[in-house]
Amino acid sequence: AKSEGRGTYRFFEARMGVEVRERRMLEHDLRHAVARGQMHLVYQPQTDVGSGEVIGFEALLRWKHPERGFVSPAVFIPIAEESDAILRIGEWVLREACREAATWPRPLSIAVNVSAVQIHSPHFVGLVHEVLLRTGLAPHRLEVEVTETALISDPNRALLTLRQLKALGLRIAMDDFGTGYSSLSNLRSFPFDKIKIDQSFVRSVDSNEQTAAIVRSVLGLGRGLGLPVLAEGVETEAELGFLAAEQCHAAQGYLMGRPSPIDRFAQHTHGTAQP
Ligand code: C2E
Ligand code: CA
Ligand code: CA
Ligand code: CA
Repeated sequence: AKSEGRGTYRFFEARMGVEVRERRMLEHDLRHAVARGQMHLVYQPQTDVGSGEVIGFEALLRWKHPERGFVSPAVFIPIAEESDAILRIGEWVLREACREAATWPRPLSIAVNVSAVQIHSPHFVGLVHEVLLRTGLAPHRLEVEVTETALISDPNRALLTLRQLKALGLRIAMDDFGTGYSSLSNLRSFPFDKIKIDQSFVRSVDSNEQTAAIVRSVLGLGRGLGLPVLAEGVETEAELGFLAAEQCHAAQGYLMGRPSPIDRFAQHTHGTAQP
């Protein structure tokens, strides 16, 4: 049993070695991914729960690696964040999403994910300002999505940045609400305009009484604070029905639309079948 254990350990160690090498390779390849045209954005609709209408889109990043094919952002974003490659990638995402949204005849909102490294970069507010001017996108159409973990490493600095961003006229959404360390106190400390309930709470909301109670209380919290709430990861009619009955404002999920190239949503962005 003992030797077996050691063998298992060695195997594990070897696997770890591969994973570290993998990581280093991805980290290296990420530095050139934008310049080599390997990145693109897909868009996922956000709908008004009451009317069912599309009110905006979240831009989600995709990386097509020349040998590995699609690498998930859940894998490469954390690597990009450690190496600071996220600054270049994040700037590209912001430019591309705003440029795209500015071409839509219908003034729908565009939500962009912003990581901790960007929020704490001294150039970030200036960058957003410049991108808004250059693309001509009306600032109120831009929504920046941040997780609370992006704010807590230096909350004073983060607060200043969020206030400066709001002064530009854009909106701030708290992403993945409920999964962080102290969601409630962060709601009070930072000037959020919207709460996005994490999909882990939305899943099974129609079948699990505990989950339902949590989602109801977040909706009550939003009402009390005057903040609209968007539910993420809505996959079934039953989930959407629950959210409608509880007067959740907005929803996003595979049920209403998977993240896709924007052309697929021309009827919403342009009000016609094709642009
Ligand atoms: P997120 O911001 O919480 O984005 C929502 C994720 O849930 C997306 O995964 C989306 O495809 C997925 N999703 C949407 N609806 C459903 C549903 O009904 N069911 C299920 N199972 N999943 C659904 P994705 O695109 O793989 O992105 C993962 C994460 O990577 C994002 O989580 C975000 O944290 C990060 N990310 C993606 N794009 C960017 C970006 O441009 N910048 C930064 N900093 N992070 C990004
Ligand atoms: Ca998000
Ligand atoms: Ca989220
Ligand atoms: Ca997430």
